[in-house]
Amino acid sequence: MSDLKRAYNFNPGPGALPLEVLQQAQAELLDFKGTGMSVMEISHRSKEFEAVIQTAEADLRDLLGIPSNYRVMFLQGGATLHFAMVAMNLRPAGASADYIVNGAWSKIALKEAKKLGTARAAANTEADGFNSVPASLDLDPKAAYLHFTANETIHGLEFFTEPTPPAGVPLVCDTSSNFISRPIDISKYAFLYAGAQKNAGPSGVTVIIARDDMLERTPENLPVMLDYKTLAASGSLHNTPPSFAIYMVGLVFQWAKKQGGLAAIEKTNRIKAGMVYDTIDQSGGFYRGHAKPDARSLMNIPFRLPSEELEDTFAKEAKKNNLIGLKGHRSVGGMRASVYNAVTIEGATALVDFMKEFQKKNG
Ligand SMILES: *Cc1c(COP(=O)(O)O)cnc(C)c1O
Repeated sequence: MSDLKRAYNFNPGPGALPLEVLQQAQAELLDFKGTGMSVMEISHRSKEFEAVIQTAEADLRDLLGIPSNYRVMFLQGGATLHFAMVAMNLRPAGASADYIVNGAWSKIALKEAKKLGTARAAANTEADGFNSVPASLDLDPKAAYLHFTANETIHGLEFFTEPTPPAGVPLVCDTSSNFISRPIDISKYAFLYAGAQKNAGPSGVTVIIARDDMLERTPENLPVMLDYKTLAASGSLHNTPPSFAIYMVGLVFQWAKKQGGLAAIEKTNRIKAGMVYDTIDQSGGFYRGHAKPDARSLMNIPFRLPSEELEDTFAKEAKKNNLIGLKGHRSVGGMRASVYNAVTIEGATALVDFMKEFQKKNG
């Protein structure tokens, strides 16, 4: 282990996982809890796996303070399938749903919902280049729900206060890229979903938190794998679940509790993101952030350099310095640093030291 070379990983997704979690998975890989098999090889109906999924749920309930009238599910399809499933399950026939569109992912969520029925944009900031969290909303008081994307991963925008839907309109949230990054008040939400591979585990599992009354909306005759009500009633075990991915998110939840829970994790996340934003702000315009300051994500930090040529050089030299995954999404261009929970303060320090050094040489 002494010559183990781990990258400083700023990948946007799949993203960094805590070293302790990977080491535990490695230690348990060949003989899980005395079974003589890996967790991938045991029955999803065994008592060992039952303990895995039940502990994962209990730890998540503890971390997020999930009230007892909410169900937790571990499903497949990524957040992208749930764009469609949310519309199929939560929007009654003939009703319309509202979507706040302020980045690439919320735009896709609305597009998927429109394929299956009526949906409208309660705001759309694309004309401004998706660089803010909209201040004013045009809300439908009769909407089936109001959907928003808590953190726009590509454009680096985060809601720090939830939008307020009209009375009686449930709030639905794609929280894929800031899931378990800080405490939130679950009681403000009717339904949340998160692809695990950004901040909470490997790809292959999507975590769902659904208030009981939302499950009563599922219409008859949906194919069973698209039917939240049935999937919830089966405890996410209607068919073979992504058992290894569920095991891994369970280890990440345990790790998060060991860090002191979400308040402690938020504190570290604010330090890390603050270091990068300060470096951008103190660069005299050499580095330019994409997001308006009050919408700056704590998880994903897109920024530009003075030229595309310098951006290419930056990415190449960063890689030589073991700083990986910094190339931005083509729609925004430039660089993007994703500083998820598992990125350490040491990693963020290595990044800002490199940024300052790079500016000195090239500024
Ligand atoms: C990555 C991402 C998605 C898509 O997730 P998949 O699990 O790949 O389908 C959706 N929403 C947000 C906010 C994301 O960051």
